[in-house]
Amino acid sequence: MAEYFIPYLKWVDMKNLQCFFILFLSLSTLQQRFCLQAYGPENQLKKLEKETTTIKQEIPNVIITFLGAPGSGKGTLAQLCAQRLDFKVFSTGDILRNQIAQKTELGLQVAGIMRRGELVSDKQVTQMVLEKYDENGDHPVIFDGYPRTKVQAKSLLEHLKQLGRLEKFYVVALEIDDTLVVQRLSNRLVCSNKNCQAVYSLLFRPPVEPNICDECGGVLSRRPDDEPESVQERLRVYARHEKILMDFYRESGCQIKTLDVGEKTIPQAFWEFCSLMGIEEE
Ligand code: ADP
Ligand code: ZN
Repeated sequence: MAEYFIPYLKWVDMKNLQCFFILFLSLSTLQQRFCLQAYGPENQLKKLEKETTTIKQEIPNVIITFLGAPGSGKGTLAQLCAQRLDFKVFSTGDILRNQIAQKTELGLQVAGIMRRGELVSDKQVTQMVLEKYDENGDHPVIFDGYPRTKVQAKSLLEHLKQLGRLEKFYVVALEIDDTLVVQRLSNRLVCSNKNCQAVYSLLFRPPVEPNICDECGGVLSRRPDDEPESVQERLRVYARHEKILMDFYRESGCQIKTLDVGEKTIPQAFWEFCSLMGIEEE
């Protein structure tokens, strides 16, 4: 009799085990989804909006360059500083991508270089970004992705010296592990609608419908230079220039601040940036 029931009991156990696993998987997916909704950038930003009403409106006219690996969050932090603190942001990557989208002469020249993850010529980038900077007057400024080489850094410092603004210049170095960076970039999607260009993260801010932009319904795609080979090339290029740049800034007596951005939420990184720069609550 027992021999007759044993296979049946085994089958029941297997069935229970399966049920248990299915339940466990559904619960953990639900929990993940909840965490993303509760703590994803959008909610973090809403929370931040409430918290930052107490930030002093008058920011000193500093000129900051963010030095950080691709994917370290330079762009996100810079955009927050623009929205909350009225910084003017010059992102060379964004300006160049715009040139490509508009098919200008410069855009056509740099499209291939950018797709491969290599650097655009110092002369072209410097001329492009300093022209924009000069139009801006004396206003708090963040350079995102510039200078990237010693030649560019020299040009910027000379330019600021001529304008008598050198003592307002700060280097903010964003520190993060390469493994985190690779993970972030391989999960980044961008809206292909040129007028939108919203950025999503499959980790932190997934679109409601897969591959469709929540804001404009445009198709989401990976930035060509976020493909794995280009990411590796960008990290190599960054590592090569980072030390040279830091040495140059130190030799030139620049004011350097370090911000650890690994494993931090966006508001945490933003608050730490504020306290680093002495931007206080009223
Ligand atoms: P990331 O920092 O994530 O690499 P960016 O948007 O800052 O992305 O830059 C994308 C690409 O634009 C770079 O890989 C490079 O080809 C070009 N680029 C941006 N800024 C510079 C610069 N200062 N000098 C040379 N090339 C640049
Ligand atoms: Zn969009």
